[in-house]
Amino acid sequence: MIIGSGCAGLTAALYAARANLSPLVLSGLMPGGLLTTTSTVENYPGFPEGVDGYELMARMQKQAERFGARVQFATVEAVDLARRPFALTVDGERVETEALVVASGAGHRQLGLESERRLEKKGVTYCATCDGALPMFRNKPLAVVGGGDSACEEALYLTRFGSMVHLIHRRDQLRASRIMAERVRSNPKIRPVWDSVVTEVLDVKQDKVTGVRLKNVKTGAETVLDCAGVFVAIGHTPNTELFKGVLAMDEQGYILPQRGAQTSVAGVFVAGDCADHIYRQAITAAGMGCAAAVEAERYLASLNA
Ligand SMILES: Cc1cc2nc3c(=O)[nH]c(=O)nc-3n(C[C@H](O)[C@H](O)[C@H](O)COP(=O)(O)OP(=O)(O)OC[C@H]3O[C@@H](n4cnc5c(N)ncnc54)[C@H](O)[C@@H]3O)c2cc1C
Repeated sequence: MIIGSGCAGLTAALYAARANLSPLVLSGLMPGGLLTTTSTVENYPGFPEGVDGYELMARMQKQAERFGARVQFATVEAVDLARRPFALTVDGERVETEALVVASGAGHRQLGLESERRLEKKGVTYCATCDGALPMFRNKPLAVVGGGDSACEEALYLTRFGSMVHLIHRRDQLRASRIMAERVRSNPKIRPVWDSVVTEVLDVKQDKVTGVRLKNVKTGAETVLDCAGVFVAIGHTPNTELFKGVLAMDEQGYILPQRGAQTSVAGVFVAGDCADHIYRQAITAAGMGCAAAVEAERYLASLNA
């Protein structure tokens, strides 16, 4: 069984299906995963003109199904990995599996503003690597929200495209590692905006991002900062609640892969963003899905040896 139908889960399904394991993919509430929420994916190999995120995921599912994978719209509510076969509670029903691939992904944290939600994909984004190169951001002032390593990385990356990158942080110094903070400080295209929080993304009426309304947390003063894009980089939350205390994780809840795609429980494998706080890309998630299925196949073969 495979938990998750994003790039990691469906690639694992393709490999497991081609190995005659007839995998069952439990799609969760977001069939196709995070990539279905974006329009054009320009950095997935094999699509020189880019590909619609939804279409790419539909194709991945079709490819896995062609070899016998089954995809079920269902959510895993609980797991019991202490017994063999493993037992999962899926939409209230108990099901068993000899091997499990966890590919449940991670969600990005949001600012929680209504204007942010309304302008998502219209200038509000959560991934500079994914969207920074889009024409709408080229040679325009951009804003990154956050103060950790990810925010610094996003800001540095965006200096290649934007005319200026404003780094908005609610404190008066960065939380990032020293080396990252130094790179940001010494980059003339990055301008830190300290002690500030975004209270509104502008302009919902124009249906595109034209700027942000800021509030200084020390003085209470309000200002408007012009920008064509808002890159929110305030962290991710892996969808791994089910596995707390069951699989080895880091302090943020990312499952810790061991020896490739294995986890701390033999027979349970992991792939994609739920185990990756560094790359978080479709292609890396797919690659990890392949590795997890190959490992699962070897594990199942060893059971029957
Ligand atoms: C707006 C946006 C644009 C992006 N653009 C790009 C891009 O251009 N290029 C790129 O390479 N990457 C891009 N990314 C990143 C890319 O989407 C992710 O890296 C990739 O989707 C990770 O795949 P995944 O399979 O690990 O997880 P996800 O795609 O997050 O899939 C997780 C799956 O797990 C399921 N699930 C979760 N919990 C349960 C449960 N309890 N039971 C059953 N199922 C469950 C979900 O329903 C979902 O199907 C973008 C991300 C976003 C948000």
